[in-house]
Amino acid sequence: MRLILLGPPGAGKGTQAVTLIENLQIPHISTGDIFRANIKNETELGKEVKSYLNEGKLVPDELTIRIVWDRLDQEDCKDGFLLDGFPRTIPQAEALGIGLKERGLELDRVINIDVPKEVLVKRLAGRRVCKGCGATYHTDYKPTKVEAVCDLCGGEVIQRDDDKEATVLNRIEVYESQTKPLIDYYEEQNLTLNVDGTEPVEQLSAQILQALKDA
Ligand code: AMP
Repeated sequence: MRLILLGPPGAGKGTQAVTLIENLQIPHISTGDIFRANIKNETELGKEVKSYLNEGKLVPDELTIRIVWDRLDQEDCKDGFLLDGFPRTIPQAEALGIGLKERGLELDRVINIDVPKEVLVKRLAGRRVCKGCGATYHTDYKPTKVEAVCDLCGGEVIQRDDDKEATVLNRIEVYESQTKPLIDYYEEQNLTLNVDGTEPVEQLSAQILQALKDA
């Protein structure tokens, strides 16, 4: 299955991705994760994209599209994939569509996770992540047992630079102006599956999986 997870930052795309890839046995391709891994490893790509991420701005389309196709052309994506955080602009969506067509492939579904803006700000500002294993926490909804220490690996739990409040607001604004138009873009292709991202995590996963099965 070839799927896209669409939704504002903080909608829970990463959380849903974990359950979906486990059930559907497809790789999870998160452009945000690819960029962050490159920044952490101080690669050339990492150096190039660091300031965009820190300011909550989008990495230029051309570079992002190239990174995504490098990944999608790998063997493990042959039978499907779950794209999370890509596409984020109309040109990215068009480039994806053209590339798929060239390869004789099609998208199956675009899962749009909808969450009101006030909820997003609260979710994102409280989000914390383990520097060691990447486990995610939240100061209100899922705190660590010991402050700033990962329950799973004992690593240091921090706030991502791009989860700081000014960046969060910028990321939401960028979403509204650049990414939201993709909902209509995919709706016109009859691909969109709209779900309510304020529902409990497990309930939402079950609902998405059922809808994919029924399609
Ligand atoms: P995410 O983890 O998906 O929220 O992505 C974190 C950051 O990575 C974004 O705020 C952007 O700076 C960058 N990024 C991730 N995906 C894309 C994309 N498809 N296009 C441009 N920039 C992206």
